[in-house]
Amino acid sequence: MTYDIIIIGGGSAGLMAAVAASRGGARVLLLDKGNRLGRKLGISGGGRCNVTNNKELDEIIRHIPGNGRFLHSAFSIYSNREIIAFFEGLGIPLKEEDNGRMFPVSDKAKTVVDALISQVRRQGVEIRTDQAVQEVLYADGAVRGVRLISGERVYAGRVIIATGGCSVPHTGSTGDGYAWAEAAGHTITELFPTEVPLRSSDAHIASRELQGLSLRDVTLTVWNAKGKRVITHRGDLLFTHFGLSGPIALRCSQYVVKELKRSDSVTLTVDLFPDTSADELYASTWKLAETESKKAIKTILRSLVQERLVPVLLAKAELLETTTFDNLPKANLLELSRLMKAFPVHIHDTLSLEEAFVTGGGVTLKEIDPKTMQSKLMRGLYFCGEILDIHGYTGGYNITAAFSTGHAAGTHAAEEALVPDLGPG
Ligand SMILES: Cc1cc2nc3c(=O)[nH]c(=O)nc-3n(C[C@H](O)[C@H](O)[C@H](O)COP(=O)(O)OP(=O)(O)OC[C@H]3O[C@@H](n4cnc5c(N)ncnc54)[C@H](O)[C@@H]3O)c2cc1C
Repeated sequence: MTYDIIIIGGGSAGLMAAVAASRGGARVLLLDKGNRLGRKLGISGGGRCNVTNNKELDEIIRHIPGNGRFLHSAFSIYSNREIIAFFEGLGIPLKEEDNGRMFPVSDKAKTVVDALISQVRRQGVEIRTDQAVQEVLYADGAVRGVRLISGERVYAGRVIIATGGCSVPHTGSTGDGYAWAEAAGHTITELFPTEVPLRSSDAHIASRELQGLSLRDVTLTVWNAKGKRVITHRGDLLFTHFGLSGPIALRCSQYVVKELKRSDSVTLTVDLFPDTSADELYASTWKLAETESKKAIKTILRSLVQERLVPVLLAKAELLETTTFDNLPKANLLELSRLMKAFPVHIHDTLSLEEAFVTGGGVTLKEIDPKTMQSKLMRGLYFCGEILDIHGYTGGYNITAAFSTGHAAGTHAAEEALVPDLGPG
């Protein structure tokens, strides 16, 4: 069987590549090893499908710290604006939520995934699920097709690899594409977990006294071994039974992963009052204690921070819960204020690559044409989505990158397929 284009992987990138590749009438085959397409897309954004993000392009790129600048060309043709218009054109109205995150008005991922698959079908793409590709076939510096796990060979002059990373493998992303990239001569940069919860064995984590505590609008800072600030993120944070999770812990995670390569433990600090200086916080806490001089410090503190933090903060500041203003040592109150501005959590590990939301690293970008997503090493070979060495924060940025690179790969593979090869001279 021969096609113009074979797309391996029907996730965000592969489905969008299929839409773009089939617009001009090219014969396109979409293969996926799972029994359903778009499984990871369907569980994104807490199961409501975080289709894209509504921020300006510069901001989108800033939120893709893993090589976001590589996407300038692809975004200049197909960005969040086009993604929004595309889905609205398919009859899926979108709404904006916090931090620019775009969701279907229905709040159901299924509406997005179904609409995308229907469009792919309407445009005449042949879809074969439960078809695991075993090998991409190359000969004389060009792509020839693929061999399925069943042994069947399917031929095409253009193959788009959209097999994703290797996180959350039950969605089908098991990292199969990396070996095919290497077989074509590509380099795979080191893979690492990103957007991943963090592990700590600090006493207050091990004791589980903070488990389930959710802090809103705080900052989390990562420090390197020399005590220099690496990154700060502001937003919501969750204490779990093993450490830290929640949006800002996930955002900090890739920096923690890098620091953990250099030392066994990385210090993070939580600022519970990001808009108040340490001096102001000390002064206002002192004043509060003075005004309510008969009240125990634990009662004063409860009016400032969440109740579950109170015993932890007081123990760390070496203050008895019953202490009142009359016997409140300044040094300990100073320490208490310092802790509210920089509550330390020591991280020794993260959850695994399989448990991460996103895989960092992938096919090295200097071997990929940023306009077309075509391999610079193997004729007819394209890559798109998370298999590339691109990773963003959750919030629609990875999906935007997957749709945009998928669109570029599909468009250019079709152009190549449909323009007759006039040969030299
Ligand atoms: C729980 C969760 C929540 C997320 N939330 C967000 C979010 O809110 N915002 C955001 O931007 N990103 C989010 N992400 C990340 C985002 O979903 C992914 O980056 C993106 O969907 C990747 O798309 P992809 O097409 O590159 O890969 P995938 O969606 O992983 O698709 C790869 C496809 O390739 C197929 N495949 C693999 N190997 C083979 C083979 N050998 N033969 C045939 N087919 C094969 C797989 O079955 C799969 O369908 C989330 C991820 C997870 C796990």
